[in-house]
Amino acid sequence: MWVERTPAEKRLYIRKLRLRRIVVSSLAFFGTAILVCFIYGGFSAAAKGSYFVPASDILQRIPIAITCGFFSGILCFLLFERKSVLICSKCESSKMDDGQTSCACGGIFQRIEDIKLISHEKMLR
Ligand SMILES: [Zn+2]
Repeated sequence: MWVERTPAEKRLYIRKLRLRRIVVSSLAFFGTAILVCFIYGGFSAAAKGSYFVPASDILQRIPIAITCGFFSGILCFLLFERKSVLICSKCESSKMDDGQTSCACGGIFQRIEDIKLISHEKMLR
C-alpha cells in the first residue's frame, strides 16, 4: 500500500537521489579522464601500434583527459535529471510525469517522492 511520506522522509529521498546523481556523474568524469589519459583511441592506437599511452606521454594528456572527463560528467549529470514517476494511489499503476494527475480507474497519480510503499505486514504492526 502506498502512503504519504513525512516531510523528513521526502527530504531524505530527494537527498538520496541527488547524491546518486552526483556519484554517477563523478564516476563518468573519472572514468572518462582515466580512459583518455591512459588509452589511445582507434586511429592513434593504429598509428602508435598500441592502445596504451607510454608513461612519457601521460603528463601531456592530463589537460585533455580532464576536459573530456568534465564534459562527460556534465553530460551524465544533465541526462540523469530526475524525471518524476507518478503512482496511482488506487490501482497502483505507474507512469512518467506527463502533467496528467487523474487515472482511468478514478484514482489520483502522486509523485513517487511524495509517497512510499509499505508492506501489509508493516501496516499491521
Ligand atoms: Zn488508477
